[in-house]
Amino acid sequence: MNFCYLTIWGSSYSFTQTTLRFLMKILDIKVLRGPNYWSIRRPKLIQVKIDLEEMEELPTNKVPGFKEKLEKLLPTLYDHRCSEKVPGGFLSRVEEGTWMGHVIEHVALELQTLAGMDMGFGRTRTTGKKGEYFVVFDYMEEEAGVYAAKAAFRLVEALIKGEAYTLDEDIRNFGKSGKIPGWGLQRAALLMKQ
Ligand SMILES: [Zn+2]
Repeated sequence: MNFCYLTIWGSSYSFTQTTLRFLMKILDIKVLRGPNYWSIRRPKLIQVKIDLEEMEELPTNKVPGFKEKLEKLLPTLYDHRCSEKVPGGFLSRVEEGTWMGHVIEHVALELQTLAGMDMGFGRTRTTGKKGEYFVVFDYMEEEAGVYAAKAAFRLVEALIKGEAYTLDEDIRNFGKSGKIPGWGLQRAALLMKQ
């Protein structure tokens, strides 16, 4: 059991990775298909509303080994520049500490990119209620976009809990959809060999 004591914002907080039960939840997923609040140029967006629950108190730098595990599972996240505007920018944010909604956004984009749908627009913003966020990212195919949202959530949750996660099932499920123009087979095969 991985047991840690953390000090966050001046208060003492403790958790066991194996007993976090109310970790995070998806409140709803909307497929946007036209003019929207988030972007003038991008009509096709997935909008996920999440509640971070306990993870509101635990940004990435407070979860032991989180960045290393994320990087190992999805090394191509190095290409995400994020607000730093340089390669590796997003991973720097993870190292410094960012909230899990932001991580879900980038993972959802990367899963689609690995599936041959190169997506790059994402935003994560608070809904105004503590712990609740809108995670928004673009999609090429609706079905794949919704799948990416759920898979990204599952993946991030597994890393927080310290559970093993492989991309094999996600790769198979993306591949099953006849609407998807081309699963990035070479990159997928590389990832499966890790
Ligand atoms: Zn970002």
